[in-house]
Amino acid sequence: MNAIPKLLSKTKLMRGYRCLKCIYLTIHHPELEAAITPETQALFDQGNMVGAKAREYYPGGVLIDNKPWDFTGALAKTRELLANGTPVIYEAAFEHMGCYARADIIQFSPETKRWRILEVKSSTKVKPEQYDDVGLQAWIMAKSGLPLEQINIVHLNPECRYPDLSNLFKEVDVTGEIRERYLSVRPKINEIYSTIKQPAVPDIDIGTYCLEPNECGFTQHCWQQKEIPEISVFDLPRINNRQWELYYEGIVSLDDANLSGLNELQERMVDCFKTGKRYINKASIKSVLAAWDFPLVFLDFETIAPAVPRYDGCGPFHQTPFQFSAHRWNAAHTDISHNEFLHDTADDPRPTLIPALLEACGKTGSIVAYHATFEKKRIEELAAYSPRHSDALLKLLDRFVDPLPLIRDTVYDNAFAGSFSLKSVAPTLLGEAYSYDGMLVANGNDAQRAFEELISPNTPLSKKTTLRNAMLEYCKKDTRVMVELVKWMYEQ
Ligand code: SF4
Repeated sequence: MNAIPKLLSKTKLMRGYRCLKCIYLTIHHPELEAAITPETQALFDQGNMVGAKAREYYPGGVLIDNKPWDFTGALAKTRELLANGTPVIYEAAFEHMGCYARADIIQFSPETKRWRILEVKSSTKVKPEQYDDVGLQAWIMAKSGLPLEQINIVHLNPECRYPDLSNLFKEVDVTGEIRERYLSVRPKINEIYSTIKQPAVPDIDIGTYCLEPNECGFTQHCWQQKEIPEISVFDLPRINNRQWELYYEGIVSLDDANLSGLNELQERMVDCFKTGKRYINKASIKSVLAAWDFPLVFLDFETIAPAVPRYDGCGPFHQTPFQFSAHRWNAAHTDISHNEFLHDTADDPRPTLIPALLEACGKTGSIVAYHATFEKKRIEELAAYSPRHSDALLKLLDRFVDPLPLIRDTVYDNAFAGSFSLKSVAPTLLGEAYSYDGMLVANGNDAQRAFEELISPNTPLSKKTTLRNAMLEYCKKDTRVMVELVKWMYEQ
């Protein structure tokens, strides 16, 4: 057992709200936690960036810039600023009963001589899980002696549109909801502390809280302990909450005789699991492909969805394409040509992307996109953005065909492990050469981070060249893989 820290941060305590085993393992077995993924780190960075942006909307404050781990320094600085009558403080620190929290923004109200808490969240609405977080925060602050007037969640405003960022944030008064939770905080903190003082790991089953609102870092450890097989009911496609019903009935393996109530697709996966054979419906493949028209244009977008809008007409998290790859296959037994576009500067990618896209798509033939709904939605948005190209862009929509539902309805292989993503399907059906393993940019999230680095003035030129090449290689691979997948289907 490790020593229990003198102060536990709100972030750690919220793990105890999620699950008592989670806080226990965090304190006593941190080595069992999965490393932070680049995706999670990007979310942290985004939260910090939105927090810093929010300060501009509550100006005139003093920032307590002590590092997150400097509890003592941040507490001392907060005491000093409060004693000096500072009316707005960013990142003020408070502690009570071993619980430590920092408030994004606090604002003094001279009329009431009380403080408003403004907790900034990089979401576009108040989410249920934020109430516990803000409730604990307010409890620590109130108990440490700060008189509170109002508790607000400040979230990104989905109505905001660039370039007018005057309404970027929306304040929601959650004082009533937090007051209702106030009395439940102390018992919860007592429960957390009594748990982490025990010599043994609490015996807590896995549950929905392992995966929601995000995946717990101890999932691998806990699920291994429960001997969940590598492919289990949790991998059944579109199983949703039925997976937990099955789990609580003691059914986890796909060859469990009591496994029932599945839809056609799930039944197919179970049959393949039991027989070890691939399912393929060649007649259905043929009939769907017969409706696709050459030339086939295989299209894939990469997009960026900044929390703080940066392009005309865009709101928080609006998807903007900055890159595409398009392979063109004119007719069976003819060569395949390639077209690509990558915006590499910080200005709006759309004015140059749209003409290049229209040129690459041409005027005839089917446009093949894996999960075409995404590409079609982006094209509709591009049409709304550029009235001059609107007609031409909207004409593309009727030409889309989608290999994803086709594969899902006609092919299943155990190696898919319940997933029909291109990254699961392609290496299984086409071979390992079509795997994305080892690529510098290997998925859409990588591409987004690479784009941010590519357009940053702080990135050295040599790094930009490396990123550019990796991004082009990745997007090209996506459409090339689609070409080979469709060829494979024509050959069945
Ligand atoms: S994986 Fe689930 S059971 Fe394990 S610590 Fe996390 S939330 Fe608790």
